[in-house]
Amino acid sequence: MKEIVVISGKGGTGKTSITASIAYLGGKDIVVADCDVDAADMHLLMQPDFEKSEDFYSGEIAEINQDECIKCGKCKDVCRFNAIPIINKQYTINSLNCEGCGYCARICPANAITMIEQNVGKVHISNTKAGNIMVHAELGIGADNSGKLVAKVKKEAKLLAEKTNKEFIVIDGSPGVGCPVVSSLSGADFVILVTEPTVAGLHDLERVYQLVKKFNIKAGCIINKADLNGNVAKEIEEFLKKENVANIANLPYDETFTKAMTVGQTIVEYGESNLKNIVIESWDKIKELVTN
Ligand code: SF4
Ligand code: SF4
Repeated sequence: MKEIVVISGKGGTGKTSITASIAYLGGKDIVVADCDVDAADMHLLMQPDFEKSEDFYSGEIAEINQDECIKCGKCKDVCRFNAIPIINKQYTINSLNCEGCGYCARICPANAITMIEQNVGKVHISNTKAGNIMVHAELGIGADNSGKLVAKVKKEAKLLAEKTNKEFIVIDGSPGVGCPVVSSLSGADFVILVTEPTVAGLHDLERVYQLVKKFNIKAGCIINKADLNGNVAKEIEEFLKKENVANIANLPYDETFTKAMTVGQTIVEYGESNLKNIVIESWDKIKELVTN
């Protein structure tokens, strides 16, 4: 079983539409995981059935038992995050400021503070319209720890892929180079970098590839809307050649891309187009690159 992660140095490159199309083509041979948990939207294209859902707990938050509190104020003095305001003459916890360090609970002379595990989101296991098993998640409003949620989604996807003997796990990673991307890359066999021919696109591709290199993962690249700026597309191709990264495909600008998205379909479902044919060829090429 091989893990394929699709990432982009920046948002808006078409990463999720391309990942969903690959997932659609992979059908029942793959488990698909949406690890872009901060802005999960792959479900809009894959239409999962939310067969099984479970709460995800991570990190802790302080809670003050007012019946035990002797109002000494020591907790407020030590909290460096300004998370213990006095409201109606009571020491209280501001959950948005509390970082869960546990210092207040440790020094409270009345043992009035308890650290409570936080429910920061949900993990779903679904069946999609393409026949895939899909693992996806939603992070609670204002919740952090998305790196840990990504790790949980990946772990579930891997267990399911092993249990059902799937050939591939296809992962929609987060944009950027932060903690969730690092978590998405960990343990991957192949990375697909999706970029677009703009100066920012090239810059962010170079930046995210530095990260991929540190993990020593084999990579390929898809240049989306390559024909919109031939000069930068050429610069990207030169960069790929220099770094020995396979140029999987140059996708042309095609309104099919957006039209399919607006009706909740992947590119490969939405009628016949040159774009569809290139995406199908790309999936064949990716499978070859991953397995050889
Ligand atoms: S340290 Fe404990 S007893 Fe003192 S104010 Fe805080 S919660 Fe109350
Ligand atoms: S756990 Fe840490 S951050 Fe939260 S209220 Fe206590 S001291 Fe402040």
